[in-house]
Amino acid sequence: MAMRLSTLFLRTLREDPADAELPGHKLLVRAGYVRRAAPGVYTWLPLGLKVLRKVETVVREEMDAIGGQELSFPALLPRDPYEATNRWTEYGPNLFRLQDRKGVDMLLGPTHEEMFTLAVKDMFSSYKELPLTLYQIQTKYRDEARPRAGLLRGREFIMKDSYSFDVEDAGLEAAYQRHREAYVRIFDRLGFDYVIVYADSGAMGGSASEEFLAVSPVGEDTFVRCAASGYAANVEAVVVPQAPPVPADVVAATPAAHVEDTPDSPTIETLVAQSDALHPRTDGRAWTAADTLKNVVVLLTYPDGSTEPLAVGLPGDRGVDAKRLEAQVAPATWAPFEEKDFAAYPMLVKGYIGPGTLGTGSSSGIRYLLDPSVAEGSAWVTGADEHGKHVYDLVLGRDFTADGTIQAAEIHEGDPSPDGAGTLTLARGIEMGHIFQLGRKYAEALDLRVLDEHGKLVTVTMGSYGVGVSRAVAAVAEATHDDVGLCWPRALAPADVHVVATGKDQAVFEHAEGLVAELEAAGLEVVYDDRPKVSPGVKFKDAELLGVPTIVVVGRGLADGTVEVKDRRSGERREVAVERAVGEIV
Ligand code: ATP
Ligand code: MG
Ligand code: MG
Ligand code: MG
Repeated sequence: MAMRLSTLFLRTLREDPADAELPGHKLLVRAGYVRRAAPGVYTWLPLGLKVLRKVETVVREEMDAIGGQELSFPALLPRDPYEATNRWTEYGPNLFRLQDRKGVDMLLGPTHEEMFTLAVKDMFSSYKELPLTLYQIQTKYRDEARPRAGLLRGREFIMKDSYSFDVEDAGLEAAYQRHREAYVRIFDRLGFDYVIVYADSGAMGGSASEEFLAVSPVGEDTFVRCAASGYAANVEAVVVPQAPPVPADVVAATPAAHVEDTPDSPTIETLVAQSDALHPRTDGRAWTAADTLKNVVVLLTYPDGSTEPLAVGLPGDRGVDAKRLEAQVAPATWAPFEEKDFAAYPMLVKGYIGPGTLGTGSSSGIRYLLDPSVAEGSAWVTGADEHGKHVYDLVLGRDFTADGTIQAAEIHEGDPSPDGAGTLTLARGIEMGHIFQLGRKYAEALDLRVLDEHGKLVTVTMGSYGVGVSRAVAAVAEATHDDVGLCWPRALAPADVHVVATGKDQAVFEHAEGLVAELEAAGLEVVYDDRPKVSPGVKFKDAELLGVPTIVVVGRGLADGTVEVKDRRSGERREVAVERAVGEIV
């Protein structure tokens, strides 16, 4: 049924709302799509809800296509599960907390890892029931410090969140890739100009987390990109090249990385025990890197061809990665760490610690070059001392943040790309989606285990994957509007056609009615401006403000047997014979 402006629950505004910052957001309010109920909390009016539902449909279709099963959790949640994972505390002031009449603590869910984990634990008990992907399109609550730009950063917002459950690490990897592909289809269909960026340094091995950023000057995330190679990372994740260029002769003298699988490999635990014995972790210096860069194994290869593996990390909470590394440990004598005067041994290290951590740099007198030529996913670094001396340790040091990444402030436009392919450009983006290999953290905290094929209980490995559904509506508005109004892509527009009947002539309205009926019969959604006493000027302005992609004006031209068909985006207009109008528009 056409949405008739004479009765539609809509009131357009000529003035910008005082509390709106961004142009797209101002227009969403002025065009009557949304209204603010409280800071960061919005009411969806009929037109806005139409757009929101279309985004949901795109997301739902693509989630269903990868075998996701939709369900819906409550927003009002008990404290216990979030206590078990420590997120009741970790979330800090961002969590909306409340108490029921008995004084029992509850919260409004900011994201639902805990609830999904518990649901699977409740219902499934065997590896045969996995893999499994569940999702919901549901309301989330976060008491954001600066709710800004309306729907882009709501305190109440709608997210599609999905979670994958697997027994094997390879299953998680596959679920992650399926989501990645589904997200590409989702953001293509939504019409975004977007980039997929590494969201963490990858120091854990593999691309454990990536974000989909809509390129936009109003975005709150900053990312770097290298045009030559396509490398892209959130500045929070990138390891910045810091060192002066490494002399070519030194590079030439550095042997290639060498990776071999062997059943005789010592386990990560053995390595750590060895090195811990020599370097109690209270001795800050040698362990700075170990405490920050987890699960990194370094294989030093000396100019005389001898090799020496070193563990520079601890098996942290990401068991997946520790296991992956274990499988790659090379046969060698695992030499103990020794105290060295590092500053006296400038060293070149060549290798790779997973995507996102490629880089050159220097610290504590040691220069290192991480080279992308080594196979993805390996975690080896080979090294050679410039002076031909053995170097026993690798200290990356002080520039790293707690999760092994370098701080954003150190990245500049024009810095060399970590993969050595060119230079970096900086741009801003809106985080539209985030995919994340959680591993076994939540399953361990909440004891989600299933029986494997040998009847042994094994902990499930999980991924979590989010799309900002309400944020997408705002981001599309920001990306597509012009000076006079919203400008929706057809896939998301509240209607396909906006029919305007002008003047007072009854025949005009009758014709317009007929056209609306025909357009609807042809399967199109129609907004019909049938208001009897509103001037053509106001109707045209409103049509432009609302942003439906095709505007049809039925009015004066009718005397000559024509209507005007206007493309909202290009502004192109043409007179079309009445009888051909529907064919032209469909
Ligand atoms: P941001 O960095 O913008 O705060 P986030 O990393 O905290 O987002 P996630 O926890 O990864 O968000 O949630 C998944 C998705 O939910 C995000 O990629 C984003 O699209 C959306 N989202 C997160 N916070 C908000 C919000 N306050 N309002 C609207 N959408 C949001
Ligand atoms: Mg956030
Ligand atoms: Mg984020
Ligand atoms: Mg995120």
